[in-house]
Amino acid sequence: MMSTAAMRKKAGKQIKKNHAQLFREANRYLVGGVNSPVRSFRSVGGDPVFVKQGKGSTVYAEDGRTFIDYCCSWGALILGHSHAKIIRAIAEAIKRGTSYGMPTALETELAQLLVEAIPSMEQVRLTNSGTEAVMGAIRVARAYTGKNKIIKFEGSYHGHADYLLVKAGSGASTLGIPDSLGVPDDFTKHTLVVPYNDSEKVKETVQKYSNDIAAIIVEPVAGNTGLVLPANKFLSGLRKICDDHHILLIFDEVITGFRLTYGGAQNYFNVKPDMTTLGKIIGGGMPMGAFGGRKDIMKVLSPMGGAYQAGTLSGNPIAVTAGITALKCLMRLKPYPSLAAKTEKLCKGIEKAATGSGIKISINSIGSMFTVFFTDEKVTDYATACRQNVPLFRKFYHGLLKRNIYFAPSAFETNFLSAVHTEQDMKKTIQATQGAFQAIAND
Ligand SMILES: *Cc1c(COP(=O)(O)O)cnc(C)c1O
Repeated sequence: MMSTAAMRKKAGKQIKKNHAQLFREANRYLVGGVNSPVRSFRSVGGDPVFVKQGKGSTVYAEDGRTFIDYCCSWGALILGHSHAKIIRAIAEAIKRGTSYGMPTALETELAQLLVEAIPSMEQVRLTNSGTEAVMGAIRVARAYTGKNKIIKFEGSYHGHADYLLVKAGSGASTLGIPDSLGVPDDFTKHTLVVPYNDSEKVKETVQKYSNDIAAIIVEPVAGNTGLVLPANKFLSGLRKICDDHHILLIFDEVITGFRLTYGGAQNYFNVKPDMTTLGKIIGGGMPMGAFGGRKDIMKVLSPMGGAYQAGTLSGNPIAVTAGITALKCLMRLKPYPSLAAKTEKLCKGIEKAATGSGIKISINSIGSMFTVFFTDEKVTDYATACRQNVPLFRKFYHGLLKRNIYFAPSAFETNFLSAVHTEQDMKKTIQATQGAFQAIAND
């Protein structure tokens, strides 16, 4: 295997392309120059980094620069970029074909790994994305309960299905108003939105619509508002409300599954949902999602029951191979305690750097996830996240980028560490934050 230094040298020798120019070209043919909006740097300004290659904790950009990466494909790459075992497994699998549209034993193997890791899921279905997994879970919940409405939390992201692109009106739980053009009001009228961590509001909403609520869907650790942790008893409180009212509790563990611990947030917090959705890590960097739950719930799914869900490429052998390999590596490595220790150390370093420059920040972190908010408030929900100083975040962001550190390009996202981020990476990152904070202070 080539050393990082050798790879850096090689990447540097190849023809360098300016990112502004690449972005202009991309914009000619791709809407906004990207295939997923946040990648465009709209929320931080400037030109996105165009990646040529990734290895370990490092991405190699088209302009010859390298970055220590804390986006890690939005959390999917918990083992780092181009993990040797995953790459080898994919290369072997691809020799046998890329897709069959017929069952494979590999799919059973991945499903078994998922079920053994997350016992609340007795049976699963594999999909191609987290969005599809959530859509499937909600359809099953509605079919199983015979009810229509769902409760979601303000600022939570569950993929881009019409009825999930809904945010709340100021504080109050309201009947959903779509967040996106192209979504008819009628499509979101069954989506009720409540502030994260507000158990009282959940109770009120359930009282009001109790006989028509099929499911409460929650990110057990909110990762899409910037990182927000569940308040003490919030998740167990949801469990109780659901039990009392014949409502299914769905944990959207697309981020937290195999991230917080091997068994996900439900294992970490010891609260058992009725259904779980997965994505990101379980594909080992390939497109993949899954949803599952108790057998008696999942049997409403076609071909066993009347709730239809399907996918031409679902259970794709290459993606499944990557997923199996990633999960087996995680099972063997048990990286969670060391990931948490590294993250804590990094966050302490960042905090100290901010204090040293007289900048007020508030960091939320858990396991290998963290967000730096530019506020002196503790961020406990979407509303507090929204009160942060976004212009300062932008300056900080570009200060880091200039110093070869890549954070997720929005003030409302979570950063991730991988098992292969090194002590040296941490040191460089903390130094870079010192520089970035000082630059803000000197402004
Ligand atoms: C990323 C994400 C999704 C959507 O997954 P895609 O694979 O992007 O469709 C759903 N829920 C949560 C919590 C996510 O973070």
